[in-house]
Amino acid sequence: MKRFILLSLLTGAGSLSLLAAQPAAQPSGPKVVDILKLKDNLYVLTSSSPTPRETFSGGNVAVFITDGGVTLVDDKLAGWGQAVLDKVKGVTGKPITRIINTHTHGDHTGNNNFFGANVEIVAQENTKSNMEKMDAFKGENAKFLPARTYKDKLTLGSGKDRIDLYYFGNGHTSGDTFVVFPALRVLHTGDMFAWKDAPFCDRSNGGSCVDFPSTLQKMLGGIKDIDTVIPGHSPMMTVKDVEGYQKFTADLLSYSIDRMKAGKSVDEAFDGFKVDKYPGYKNERVKAAIQAVYDELKK
Ligand SMILES: [Zn+2]
Repeated sequence: MKRFILLSLLTGAGSLSLLAAQPAAQPSGPKVVDILKLKDNLYVLTSSSPTPRETFSGGNVAVFITDGGVTLVDDKLAGWGQAVLDKVKGVTGKPITRIINTHTHGDHTGNNNFFGANVEIVAQENTKSNMEKMDAFKGENAKFLPARTYKDKLTLGSGKDRIDLYYFGNGHTSGDTFVVFPALRVLHTGDMFAWKDAPFCDRSNGGSCVDFPSTLQKMLGGIKDIDTVIPGHSPMMTVKDVEGYQKFTADLLSYSIDRMKAGKSVDEAFDGFKVDKYPGYKNERVKAAIQAVYDELKK
């Protein structure tokens, strides 16, 4: 049950879809997202922190303006499409032509249907499979699933408009994409780096807290020349922050394995975990991550 609550908190739409996705269940009040300018042709739509709930619109959205149109990385929670569109229209007259979904969750894919079937939707192939299980993409709505998928790497566009998509393995889900804008030296991590706290490893969508650190390690080895990192749900970060996060997840994994071997319960393991060693980090999600490691290794 705890897992379900956490999942619902994270995806927002998860719990709503069980209530037949009634719009009335959304927080009321005007839906406005904040916009941050990173470069002349790259913006981020924020309002992405899951707390407070009233202003939570879904994950950070990158808005990349190219000669041929606008590419969005992720598209926030259902019901926030107009707010996204309004902000995009405020910075460019070009149409949205492509959406990259970093992973399956409703706070990153919630407006594929709002932007319509004429927009090219791109995702890693496992994410498409995960999305096919969601109520939001069943029946008629299957046309809003990614039409274009890839396995390990995909390059879209060229020159200053180039976008590189990378997949390095299981972590938050089984299909997390890292998006790079090489000309701008910017990386969008999706929820492979959501916040400075333990990761949420969504095992129902193939996520793995056991694989998480090595997947991040492969990413750090495979992607170079980055100045700015757009994380899933936090303010802008640097590569140094991602390196610190990789170490945090690796430490948490080896600590969990050690405690499990010593016969400790998840509660005992959590009580003994010292988050103070990691400046700026919280431990609100540490217990769930330890639980995920225990569950995974018990199998
Ligand atoms: Zn997610």
